[in-house]
Formats: sequence, structure tokens, C-alpha cells
Amino acid sequence: MAVHSNISSLYHGNAMPAQILSGREAADALLLTLKPKVKKLDPKLVVVQVGNDPASASYIKQKFKSCEAVGMRSEHIHLPEDTELATLMDIVTKLNTDTDVTGFIVQVPLPPALQAHVPEIVKAIDPKKDIDGFGAYNLGKMFLSVEFEHLPPATPGGIVILLEHYKIPVKGRHVVIVGRSNTVGKPIAVMLLNRDATVTVCHHHTKNLADLTRQADILIVAVGKANLITGDMVKEGVVVIDVGMNKTDAGLVGDCDASVAEKASAITPVPGGVGPMTVASLIRNCVRAKERQLQK
Ligand code: NAP
Repeated sequence: MAVHSNISSLYHGNAMPAQILSGREAADALLLTLKPKVKKLDPKLVVVQVGNDPASASYIKQKFKSCEAVGMRSEHIHLPEDTELATLMDIVTKLNTDTDVTGFIVQVPLPPALQAHVPEIVKAIDPKKDIDGFGAYNLGKMFLSVEFEHLPPATPGGIVILLEHYKIPVKGRHVVIVGRSNTVGKPIAVMLLNRDATVTVCHHHTKNLADLTRQADILIVAVGKANLITGDMVKEGVVVIDVGMNKTDAGLVGDCDASVAEKASAITPVPGGVGPMTVASLIRNCVRAKERQLQK
């Protein structure tokens, strides 16, 4: 059985139930602090969507809902499934030069014919407007120090804000990350290293995964496989950030089995954990981009 946001399920067999790290609560708190800045700076966020991937449609809806919550202007450019690369690149160029647009994202996954071109599409986005933080410039700067994490990728940025919101220290603690994607695993590793954590990153070829996950004070799982992590793979009192989102017959679940929550001291629910933080962090990036654009 996988971890749900149903809090009662986390009490089963556990003397001290795990604290629920609610991304909804932390995201609302962040959005509240951004509201006056949005009012003052009047940034505009644009989402480019190609095709009709249902999961993307749902994420985009959440993004616009949060824009509305903070009073941020937004625009949805929705292109047909058969859009050609040249047309999409034209739109990226226009958004780069449109001074009214603060930041924009090209929602992934793209339709199969375009998906292989994601690196060149991301490369074409002006780093000053790259609010998803996927481009080499913004990713590279993060390696320097916390001060250079100007536009971090939205999900790792959101995880850091979540840990801060719940006052979970990372300094000196052993963080084990399962998953090494360029958008989640690798950048969160760098951000936590910047904050003085000791970081281990695991992936497909990692041998004896459980030996490593059992050492984690904080375990971050970003794989996309339901029930990958089970209770016997973690130590008592671990803090768990479950990034995974897997559609199953039982609904949307993370990468952790319910038995993980029985040993954890704190855990993010799925849904309602990292998801809302990703959206709020994207909005924060748009505000930061506007601040920087006004300075220059
Ligand atoms: P990804 O690009 O597919 O990366 C998955 C990573 O997991 C890879 O590094 C892969 O290793 C590793 N992996 C696969 N099987 C493994 C195993 N058995 N043991 C250890 N490592 C394994 O995925 P992603 O984009 O990072 O996303 C991961 C999950 O998070 C997905 O479910 C996604 O939907 C979710 N997600 C959620 C949010 C949110 O806002 N909540 C945001 C982003 C992603 P290799 O590199 O060796 O192949």
C-alpha cells in the first residue's frame, strides 16, 4: 500500500505518528509573502503548452490557480499537437524579447516529435526569464553557493522552502537522494550541499540501495516507481520527502510504501506534499526574475 494524504493511515502501528509535512500549508505561507511583491512589481508568467497531455493540463491548471491567488498576471499559449519545432522556437524568441513577459516555461513532456528537442528549446530560453531554472546558466550558477541560487529549478527550490518552513535542519545531516534527474535529484543534491548537508545520490546502478537509504537522516525519493521504498529500507525517525507521483488504481501515490510512514518522524503526503511547493517555487522564481530585471 502506498502513502496517501489520509493522515489516519499514518498512525497504524506507530507509537509516535509521523508529522505530515503539508506542501499545501507551506505553499500557502509562501504565496502570502509573495502577494505584496507581486502587487508592487506586476510580473507576468507565461506557460507554453503543446498538445493535450492530461497530466500537463492538470499541472498548468495548478500554476494558473496559484498565479490568481497572488494576483500575478499570466498567459496560456496552447499550441496544437502537430506544432513544428520552428514554430515553437519562434514563440520562444518572441517571449524572450517581449518586455512585458517576466518569465515563461515550456511545459514538458512535449509531443513525441518535439520531446527530443527539449535541450535546444531550453537552451533558447533567455536565462533571465528561465523561471523553471532548467537552463545551463541557472543550473551552473547554483554550484557556486547559496547566494547564486537565483532561479533554482522549481521542485528542488520548493523542497528547500518546505524544509525551512517546518524548521528541519540539514546542516551536518546525511541526506540520501534516490534519483539523479537534472530537474530534481541532481539540483537538490547541490542545494543541500550548499547548506552543509552530507549528500549521497543513488540511481539505477546503485548497488545495495537499502544499505544507503537506511543511513539517511533525510531521505528524498524522486524516481517515479510506486512502493520502491519500504519500511525496512529506512531507519526510525527519518524525515522523508516523497517527490514521486505515480498514477495507480488506488489513485495518485508517491514512491514510498505506507510502511515508511510508520518509521518516519516526518513525511510529505502524496498528493499535497512536493507538488504545491513546486508551483509556489515557480511563482517565487517569477517574482525574483522581475526583481532582477528591474535592477539591470
Ligand atoms: P526521471 O527523470 O525519470 O528520473 C528518475 C531517476 O530515478 C533516475 O535518475 C533513475 O536512475 C532513478 N531510478 C529509476 N529506477 C531506480 C531504482 N530502481 N533505484 C534507484 N534509482 C532509480 O524522473 P524525475 O523527473 O526526476 O521525476 C521523478 C518522480 O518525481 C516522478 O514520479 C515525477 O512525476 C515526480 N515529480 C514530481 C514533481 C512534483 O512537483 N511533485 C516534480 C517533478 C517530478 P538513472 O538516472 O540511473 O536512470
